[in-house]
Amino acid sequence: MAELPPLRTVIARHGLSASKALGQNFLLDEQLLSRIAAIPGELRDQAVLEIGPGPGGLTRALLRAGARVTAIEADPRCLPALAELDAAFPGALRVVAGDALRVDHDALMGGPYAVVANLPYNVGTALFTRWLGGDAWPPRWTSLTLMFQQEVAERIVAAPGTPAYGRLAVLAQWRSQPRLALRVHRSAFTPPPKVMSAIVHVVPTPAPAGVSAATLERVTAAAFGQRRKMLRQSLREIPGALEALDQLGIDPQRRAETLAVADFVAIAGRLGSASAPADAPP
Ligand code: SAM
Repeated sequence: MAELPPLRTVIARHGLSASKALGQNFLLDEQLLSRIAAIPGELRDQAVLEIGPGPGGLTRALLRAGARVTAIEADPRCLPALAELDAAFPGALRVVAGDALRVDHDALMGGPYAVVANLPYNVGTALFTRWLGGDAWPPRWTSLTLMFQQEVAERIVAAPGTPAYGRLAVLAQWRSQPRLALRVHRSAFTPPPKVMSAIVHVVPTPAPAGVSAATLERVTAAAFGQRRKMLRQSLREIPGALEALDQLGIDPQRRAETLAVADFVAIAGRLGSASAPADAPP
């Protein structure tokens, strides 16, 4: 196995002072990085898409696990450090310089792939909704292993009836299974962020038949947009929604947070794709 310099040395040698604008909080503890790389399961000879490798701490853990890694990095300062990793693991690392939000991941990877990323909050959430949205299912990715602010991770795995339950939970749970895999203390990062973090692991499951992702998103946006209101009020702007509640035997006096994910799926299934606006977000 390749001997690599400590990550602190790599950071110092390449002058990688953390950029706030790029949300850079680096993980330097190699034991922790190995634990994170183990979350997706056996990676030997598996294609992995890593977003935001930075100085390459998680990247080296993935390479040591035997993965074939494609890494997209927005900060050109990190490229020389990543080139050293490329030299240490010949043929196993491909680095793509650029903004991961502007890259077609499926086209880049060409086949099935696992996603692993420790990303800034805004980029992570934007990519998460993109990976989980759209009508093409199953997706080309086989799992997502993603670091989030702990509060966002809790919203992703939240159960009905809890304060964290909302749009993100329904998006993440209606045709995939998310679990909170690891809590990561803020002190594990350099520099430490203000908030705690957690890693969510998501695997796709079969999609319910006849349900449009855009319609489901429209229903959950309306229902949770006014989460203190009864469904008969929050869903009244969606044509056919109140009739759907009636047909499904869902009391219109209930509030969104009391409905199971399956209830939202059933409502969207009744509405078909007709009530999805053309410009619905994924
Ligand atoms: N993976 C490294 C680690 O765990 O130490 C770095 C994590 S740091 C929180 C986030 C990384 O994502 C940084 O290297 C940053 O430059 C990169 N990044 C930020 N926005 C990005 C984007 N839109 N596309 C690709 N990389 C991005």
